Amino acid sequence: MSNASAITVRIKRILNGAPRIELTATFPTDEAFEAQLPIWRPGRYEVQNFAQFVYSMEGCVAGKWRPLSKTTLHRWQVPANTESVRWVFHANTFNAGSTGVGEDVLYINPVNCFLYHPGHEEWGYRVVLDDVPTDWSVATGLTPDGDAWLARDVQHIMDSPILAGPELWHANYTSNGVPFHIWIYGKHTPDAERFVREHQDFTDAQIAHFGSFPAPHFHFLYVLPELEVRHGVEHEDTTVIAQGPSAKSQTEEGHMELIGIASHELYHCWNVKRIRPAEWTPYDFSRACPSRMGYMAEGVTTYMGDLFLFESGVLDLAGWCREFEKLLNRHVNNSGRLNLSVADSSFDTWLDGYAAGIPGRKGSIYVEGAVLAFLCDVRIMQLTGSEASLQTAMRLLWEQFGEPRIGLTETDYWSVLNEVAGAPDALDDLRRDFADGTDDSWDALVAAMEWQGLKLTKTRVDGLWRTVIEPA
Ligand SMILES: [Zn+2]
Repeated sequence: MSNASAITVRIKRILNGAPRIELTATFPTDEAFEAQLPIWRPGRYEVQNFAQFVYSMEGCVAGKWRPLSKTTLHRWQVPANTESVRWVFHANTFNAGSTGVGEDVLYINPVNCFLYHPGHEEWGYRVVLDDVPTDWSVATGLTPDGDAWLARDVQHIMDSPILAGPELWHANYTSNGVPFHIWIYGKHTPDAERFVREHQDFTDAQIAHFGSFPAPHFHFLYVLPELEVRHGVEHEDTTVIAQGPSAKSQTEEGHMELIGIASHELYHCWNVKRIRPAEWTPYDFSRACPSRMGYMAEGVTTYMGDLFLFESGVLDLAGWCREFEKLLNRHVNNSGRLNLSVADSSFDTWLDGYAAGIPGRKGSIYVEGAVLAFLCDVRIMQLTGSEASLQTAMRLLWEQFGEPRIGLTETDYWSVLNEVAGAPDALDDLRRDFADGTDDSWDALVAAMEWQGLKLTKTRVDGLWRTVIEPA
């Protein structure tokens, strides 16, 4: 990988007082330009205004550092002949999409804190971790080059988290010839042998069903801090999964939550990182990019992540039923799904999709999306005598859209599902009622479960519905 035009970014930690990082960038131009900081990060479809974490922004001209002025909330004017741009960024947050540092860790998501040139998104990046000792491990999908780490362009650097520390736990395994790495930062870590074996199992199963793995390597970066957190963020050849407090990883519940998130995030390697809605192809980090297809991006992934745990034997049938009951409990108890469709709720994640929001307004792309995915899966199996399933459609979407990197429309998605089901209108009612519409899905769910040999019931307990799935 050689790129004549690359932005060099040097990073060092500031540990006296509130944890911060100082970044110094050299842009390959003498011309004036506006430097942009991303306003959102893929994986969380809302505006996050990362500029709120910037303490200072300066430019160096003729050896003199001066503050840069803003042209918009997220852009700074860089004058002609600026030799370097230097900024200080708050680095005290340890979730799966943030940036945090300490005596024993440097954890960076460039999409929070890296500037880019909006007119030159093809420029590469050369990242130098100035104060990371040579005996630390550096976990990242970026390409090493001497003392630096290289990214091809803006899309690549913004998709490439870096986790460095003196005591990262590390294991690796191979699936379909591809090297997979597991890295863990945290005081307490899960049962190593079981953890690696389960990763191997769900990885083998997913690759078998897609036919190939889309990246030359893959890194699971686990951040297990001593605070309450639980989620993951997907990247093309990496995922970051955060769970805390770290001791939770040694409980059965915490262990299975990590494995559940890991299977979900690996599935994203195909679905959303490559099979991707047109609105996010490529990502525009400078503005909100609403899409109605969150039910594919997150719903299908939520459903498939758990299904592959069952498929690979990590979960037994009862285990899968308990996981799906959790989703169904959230589904039936949320009246918002009867007010705003999951497609409209997807578009609106940019308003309040990751907060409770006003009561009864909206559905969840994860929950309602997973329920819809299950109904689509059963419909395709019913119509094809179980010769095909939703996974057959996802593999086709990977081959027709993901691999050639063609952004997907709603019409594309439903056309492929219908094609796999064997009729051009095979799933039209599901789309009308449960993707674009707000119909109650209960009767359809009971019937789909029954077809699967399962009995779905619900009872009212303390003012809430509780669902039970059991063998019929
Ligand atoms: Zn996800």
